[in-house]
Amino acid sequence: MRITHDIHTHSTLSHCCYDPEASIANYVRRAAELGHKVFGISNHIWDEKVPGASRWYKNQTISYGLEARDSVPADTCGMKVLIGVETEYFAASDTLGMLAETAKQFDYVLVPHSHIHMRGDVMPDTADVAALKEIFRERIAKALPELSADQVRRMANSLGYTDYDALVASGIFFPPTVDFERYCAEAMLSSFSALMANSEFIKLAAAVPVSIAHPFDPCGLTGETRRRVINLLPDDKLTECFRSAKALGVSIEINTGAFKFSENDWAGEPLIRVMRLAKAAGCKFTFGTDSHSLAGLDKIRRADDLSDIIGITEEDLAEFVK
Ligand SMILES: [Zn+2]
Ligand SMILES: [Zn+2]
Repeated sequence: MRITHDIHTHSTLSHCCYDPEASIANYVRRAAELGHKVFGISNHIWDEKVPGASRWYKNQTISYGLEARDSVPADTCGMKVLIGVETEYFAASDTLGMLAETAKQFDYVLVPHSHIHMRGDVMPDTADVAALKEIFRERIAKALPELSADQVRRMANSLGYTDYDALVASGIFFPPTVDFERYCAEAMLSSFSALMANSEFIKLAAAVPVSIAHPFDPCGLTGETRRRVINLLPDDKLTECFRSAKALGVSIEINTGAFKFSENDWAGEPLIRVMRLAKAAGCKFTFGTDSHSLAGLDKIRRADDLSDIIGITEEDLAEFVK
């Protein structure tokens, strides 16, 4: 099926967008050339009314998101332009990055549950990292007794994962062994279920159209590791997750950027099984390129093949993208 919408795009307002050409005016022009009927901007936003933003999210506030609306050109070539957001869900603290009341200012909200590269926030620390942080906490407290417990905790938490890797390699510490791939798979399943049960999320889903951004794509993992993690997700658990999304009227996103295999080798792409289960569970779908650059918008053509392979037809699309 030819897909004529793209509602997952990041303009220069997002802190991870480095393409100066990725302005909203340029996006709208290119989207119209690509034949879209509906086009949406979804910058990363953390609602400042919700405590607990990470340092990266702190400056990506609601006013940034709303600025996008002012930048939409008057002439959109007949295309419907929506102003949405990609907010966040910190499973480690069961915190949704946007209040339902705030979300009403936007046309739709994308909610990711699998930004597992945001460790400690989206995915709780693995036992090895938690053990290493504990050692750091003790040593820093001993070396610098004038610091408060909170300052000590923040210093220990600020150490990067590569620092931990180096310490483990040095043989100074012997952390507990962790099956990291299984941990990631289980973290994605539990973050999805916890999100569906989060009371603010339930309100959000009733207030505005919501789609789950790149569900079950373990962000930050690549190649065979990524493939193995997705393959560890059992059919019955995925079906349970998708049924709960359907019950809340929450759509599922097909993110063309998340499907990593080449166009000629979709058979090797593990997310296809996941999306077929979402379709079997009766979910509605939205498509998005997750573009962080102007050229990225062209990737929507992969969605045409993907919709056929997964078996998505016009009636499987969410109402707000039609
Ligand atoms: Zn995302
Ligand atoms: Zn995104």
